[in-house]
Amino acid sequence: MRVILAAMPANFKAELVGCFGQPVAENPTGAMQEAAFQALGLNWRYLTVEVRPAKLCDAILGVRAFGMQGVNLTIPHKVAVIEHLDEIAPDAAIIGAVNTVRRDGERLIGDGKGFLRGVRTDAGVDPRDKRVVVLGAGGAARAIVTELVLAGASDVLVLNRSVSRGEQMVSDLVSKTRAPIRFERWRDTYEVLDGTDILVNATSIGLYPDVDTMPAVDLRGAHPGILVCDVVFNPPETRLIRAARERGVRVLDGLAMLVYQGVIGFELWTGRKAPEAVMKQALRQALGLV
Ligand code: NDP
Repeated sequence: MRVILAAMPANFKAELVGCFGQPVAENPTGAMQEAAFQALGLNWRYLTVEVRPAKLCDAILGVRAFGMQGVNLTIPHKVAVIEHLDEIAPDAAIIGAVNTVRRDGERLIGDGKGFLRGVRTDAGVDPRDKRVVVLGAGGAARAIVTELVLAGASDVLVLNRSVSRGEQMVSDLVSKTRAPIRFERWRDTYEVLDGTDILVNATSIGLYPDVDTMPAVDLRGAHPGILVCDVVFNPPETRLIRAARERGVRVLDGLAMLVYQGVIGFELWTGRKAPEAVMKQALRQALGLV
């Protein structure tokens, strides 16, 4: 008697995604994506690949040649990758940087989203008509301010230590979006006003190993309904997040921002709903937080 072993033809081909950066070895994104693929039984692989700046063009040709479904870009490729892609999403075009590339047929499309999904999903806050204060004017701040104004924030105040960097970022974003973004030099302790709905630390203050440093802000005048966010994810419990918790206000830590970038990538690539809890847990494990 013949036994029929499988009703479906075998498929040993994995779909490929990954991350290009330099340095890249400590990037934990692969751990959360691989956990998500496993949880959904997908034969997908996430490759964490060190790519030198001079080889970025070849690496993107490799994405095309291997039929990879997409890649994340990290330092130093987020801006340089743009010229190698076929299309840039509107938000990424304004930000001027791409963190996720997805494939649409033969076309590679760059995206820049990440922060707002956490604000909406984790903190339950819609940025429309909200007054926001953003600390910092680097790459993370630029992406966050862009997402906030495209989502309809009514007033965004950017505070930065270096005036030239802050002014340049704000004038560039205002000219591209015509949105209500203002700049103030951040010199002394900034007293958060009662009218502020969302405060975001988009600086690296509090990042390991300087875990005892805290952005110079005073939360005593803040409204009880304020949402305090920190982009720093190592450690996620920064001094700012602790200070906000002590005041009893809502918080969104940098880990949430990182997870939701992964969630967005997963959903763009696979077209499936991402297993968010699995991804959060895998990221915590990868960062040694559990
Ligand atoms: P950049 O180097 O581009 O910008 C750093 C910003 O921090 C600048 O505005 C700088 O001000 C400010 N800053 C740094 N030190 C101080 C200080 N002592 N006092 C006042 N301001 C200071 O960095 P990125 O924007 O790329 O990254 C910022 C942080 O965001 C990093 O900690 C990074 O790990 C984190 N990040 C988190 C992500 C997430 O998913 N959670 C994603 C991306 C980044 P100045 O212009 O005056 O120098």
